[in-house]
Amino acid sequence: MSVDPNERISLLKGVGPRLESTLAKLGIFCYSDLLLHLPNRYQDRTQIVPLNQVEAGSECLIEGEIVDASVQFGRRRTLKVTVDDGTGKVHLSFFHFSKFQQKHLEKTPYIRAYGEFRAYAQQLSCVHPEYETFSAEPDSFVPTLLPIYPTTAGLGQARLRNLLKTLCNLHWPDIAGTPFTALRFLHQPPAGASLSDIAKVQERIAFDELTAYYLVMQGRALKRQQETALILPQAGGLGRTLLTNLGFQLTGAQVRVVREVLLDLQQPVPMLRLVQGDVGSGKTIIAAFAAIRAAELNCQTALMAPTELLAEQHYLNFSQWLNPLGISVLLLTGQLTAKEQRERLEKIKNGDAHVIIGTHALFQEKVVFHQLALSIIDEQHRFGVHQRMTLQHKSGAQHRPHQLVMTATPIPRTLTMALYTDMDVSTIDELPRGRQPIKTHTVQSAKRAQVVERVRRILEQGQQAYWVCTLIEESTEIDAVAAVQTHTALASALTEFRIGLLHGRMKSDEKVAVMQAFKTKELDLLVATTVVEVGVDVPNATHMIIENGERLGLAQLHQLRGRVGRGQLASHCFLIFNKGLSGAAKVRLNAMRDSQDGFYLAEQDLKIRGPGDILGTRQAGEQGFRIADLNTHAHLMPRVVEKGELLLSAEAGSSNASQMKNLLQTWAPTDAGSLSV
Ligand code: ADP
Ligand code: MG
Repeated sequence: MSVDPNERISLLKGVGPRLESTLAKLGIFCYSDLLLHLPNRYQDRTQIVPLNQVEAGSECLIEGEIVDASVQFGRRRTLKVTVDDGTGKVHLSFFHFSKFQQKHLEKTPYIRAYGEFRAYAQQLSCVHPEYETFSAEPDSFVPTLLPIYPTTAGLGQARLRNLLKTLCNLHWPDIAGTPFTALRFLHQPPAGASLSDIAKVQERIAFDELTAYYLVMQGRALKRQQETALILPQAGGLGRTLLTNLGFQLTGAQVRVVREVLLDLQQPVPMLRLVQGDVGSGKTIIAAFAAIRAAELNCQTALMAPTELLAEQHYLNFSQWLNPLGISVLLLTGQLTAKEQRERLEKIKNGDAHVIIGTHALFQEKVVFHQLALSIIDEQHRFGVHQRMTLQHKSGAQHRPHQLVMTATPIPRTLTMALYTDMDVSTIDELPRGRQPIKTHTVQSAKRAQVVERVRRILEQGQQAYWVCTLIEESTEIDAVAAVQTHTALASALTEFRIGLLHGRMKSDEKVAVMQAFKTKELDLLVATTVVEVGVDVPNATHMIIENGERLGLAQLHQLRGRVGRGQLASHCFLIFNKGLSGAAKVRLNAMRDSQDGFYLAEQDLKIRGPGDILGTRQAGEQGFRIADLNTHAHLMPRVVEKGELLLSAEAGSSNASQMKNLLQTWAPTDAGSLSV
């Protein structure tokens, strides 16, 4: 009899209460959870690598004769074993070793070892390899691909592998349309299997997983279509007034996207539209036209930005655009005094504010909207998907708010298909007229002084510049220190100018004040960390200097560079790098120098780094694919869509329906109910 995939994991041989709770941390509660807990990589032990072909940085299996084993007294006491196979030599090093181990390695003639080899002082060496020894020349050897699993404290690889062995030896039905044999192949690659065989099987399974994901997204889209939203027809003609007041002409692309958005707002179903457009393409104004529609019916709009800086900037822009039309704009951030906050919350609740702009603060329980008709999320990639859903539930009425989502991260088309199947997408593929291209230069750090001189010249001409310090991504602390030091150095080099400092360790009202001073030209030069990355708009700033540019990904570099080139003056970006660039870093910097096209750069980023980095780890992680990797499997999407549509089609028949149900139950159990099958 076959096993029941839903059997509790505690019933598996070898799983006691302690292991059960460890497995729970990995999200493993039943048999099928464990079966779907797939290796994230493999150790290739399928061949013995000749010692002259061992590459630095690679993990491999080697064997040979031990020609020397002795304890060395350097900085650390080390047992150093030298292995020779006739083609070359490598070293194996042990910092922790027993007397017995030492004696044994001194007299045993042959060794086979697995580990990662690194180059130290021109020699390849592996620290603490796994090994076995032989008294005669080693012969028999079972080629294996050893699976390595994601795991957690208290559960080692060997134990996990054993558990899976027990599990795979049970009699499994073909679960969920994904053949058991394919899953078993990944857990226990048969003798003779290669990494490319593994990749093929992974692709087969990724196809199922992506299909399930597609079905879930389509399910959400269907559900949305059954919900009602407030119809926001053209009413007071205030949009027209804004258009004449603007002082510039919308680009053709902006006109098209505004039309698409306004058409959606006239429908009784909630809009869910993604507006993507390169940095500086003018997305903000699109949001303003949408907000006007809501305000004309006396309904509210919530606009959420990922940083206080950006929220503040939007507040200033929207006030300038909308106040003359009699539309009130309100800012709600985390930095207000208790009294201010109370007053503003009151205004929101009473409907005295039409457009409410803020950060995460908009999510607080105590924010009660009054006829929320539209929610807008700027720089959506900075937020998680979950948060998008939360705001959606806060309409305070039986209507669902329309949703507009804006992003400057141009997402390659294949990824859009995969990630945003539940959204409509508008693209602003045109920059406002008169924009000068940004010329990008890569400069070695040795020539930093020349860049400083260059900055001096343009400041003298009344232009402004950003100087961005990045040491280590994700470490706001260290970046802040770097920014403070650079600020001091530049202040003493450029004494005649006013130089501001902006970093993540500052209080948010300080940050806003500095940014404001830069915008009103009370500051000439702004030394900052990557906090200036998103959205900040100061058209008079023409130079962007980025230190340690090699440390950043293309998407982030492109965002930073997009802070300049916003006015009529020619702009420049200097990427200062340190000597000894890695190959990938060179490719990135050259791509930046040669292209200003966000979509092209996104495609390059995808190739170099994978989608996790493009979309921000938060978002990529949230998709939570078990096996599908959008980097390697995005090309499956057209076929996935075809298959998904077939399964959903009316004439699907019962066999398709049950296949669909199975796919969903396996790959998206929490969402399985969202499609009526
Ligand atoms: P992003 O798409 O990066 O959010 P913004 O909305 O911040 O871009 O717009 C960048 C700048 O360009 C702003 O100063 C904005 O007022 C201006 N802008 C927007 N549309 C146009 C246009 N059609 N012509 C001229 N300037 C424009
Ligand atoms: Mg913007």
